Amino acid sequence: MAMPKLAPVPAAHDKLRALGILALNGMFDEMDAVGVLRQAASEILAGDLAVVSSFGADSAVLLHLVAQVDPSLPVYFLETGKHFRETLDYVETLKKHLGLINVHALHPNSEDVKRFDPTGDLWETDPDSCCHIRKTEPLEPVTEQYGGWVTGRKRFQTKERGVLPHFELTSDDRIKVNPLAYFSDADVNQYKIDHGLPEHPLFAKGYKSIGCAPCTSVVAEGEDPRAGRWRGLNKKECGIHFDFNGAIAKPMTAATKHTLWKDGAFIADPFHEWAEGDDPATVSYKHVPLAVFLANRDAVLANPHPLGLLIVPGDRIEDAEADLGRFASIAIKFPAFTDGRGYSVSRLLAERHGYGNEIRAIGDVLQDQIPLMRRCGFNAFVVTHEPTRQALIENRLPEVALFYQPVGITEVPAGTRPFLRRAH
Ligand code: SF4
Repeated sequence: MAMPKLAPVPAAHDKLRALGILALNGMFDEMDAVGVLRQAASEILAGDLAVVSSFGADSAVLLHLVAQVDPSLPVYFLETGKHFRETLDYVETLKKHLGLINVHALHPNSEDVKRFDPTGDLWETDPDSCCHIRKTEPLEPVTEQYGGWVTGRKRFQTKERGVLPHFELTSDDRIKVNPLAYFSDADVNQYKIDHGLPEHPLFAKGYKSIGCAPCTSVVAEGEDPRAGRWRGLNKKECGIHFDFNGAIAKPMTAATKHTLWKDGAFIADPFHEWAEGDDPATVSYKHVPLAVFLANRDAVLANPHPLGLLIVPGDRIEDAEADLGRFASIAIKFPAFTDGRGYSVSRLLAERHGYGNEIRAIGDVLQDQIPLMRRCGFNAFVVTHEPTRQALIENRLPEVALFYQPVGITEVPAGTRPFLRRAH
């Protein structure tokens, strides 16, 4: 008799995490906003919580809660370089008015801006990439330092936020706290009046939801307040509020696993897989197959977005030699762990062509290969093999202390005659 198929059982750890968040939401569901924030700041995440604020039209409400709970709570403002002058002034106004003493501005990496947005119009051609380099990238290393962070998001703002709870679990085991989740538009306005909070200078001019200047417009009476954000574009969130699977973080879903291992940790991967039919002239954050690049070289070089190059066995990296610097990442495919051709490609890139950006191994990447790959110049690994993931998480990688075949000109093989080794 055929056995009935059992549904996969989530790992006990995932279950406990999900239950923990569910319990938190159950305990504090009825609590008012200041109570939720106080619980988070003084009990649940004491000393491990930060606030991210846009200093936009409604930000004064959340920041007023912060001032009541703890004015020294770290507050981060994403200074994208694209804000209205009025917003920058408003940062100073609110700091002073509320007595906030720990506000920091986060700026985009100037090299990224120079490279990916040299003319300053990336917001128009590729707003997701613009938000990525101006918001997500600067924020990521900061959020990594905290166990949780506070947002001012509210259920009424978008359909996607309609189920927003007070506490969310992100896929990297952090907690997002949304004290204003249940506030309506009217609640926000009443709160501002009740507490005499200074208004953003552009609010009276019809800007009801205020972000970067190029992506914010006035909304008409009765129009959805967020209709003025990215008007005309199919975009509603800036990216920093997405969980890494692209959705609002849900309290009950198990963690989405990152597969990109870089600098000793699994991190969110900004690149997406190249798909049949992708247009090399307009794609963003994709590894363009070498053959496609060679057939569309001018279009790829004119493409203003961050791109990578995909190398598969049999490809000659020399064919793209002059343009390697165009690519932020080069992905080398290992179709099987027994196929060693990718090692040579990586060595060529690192040693002969002086390529200094990301060299990532993709495909059949296993635990025993990684130390060897690193010696050959790989600095990022897409790992889907579960035992290998676990080994990396637990920092278990085999050491390669002895080797016969040195890599580059700095390694000296033990027990051989190093004086016979020639520099090349
Ligand atoms: S909101 Fe607009 S200008 Fe600001 S980072 Fe995003 S796309 Fe760029």
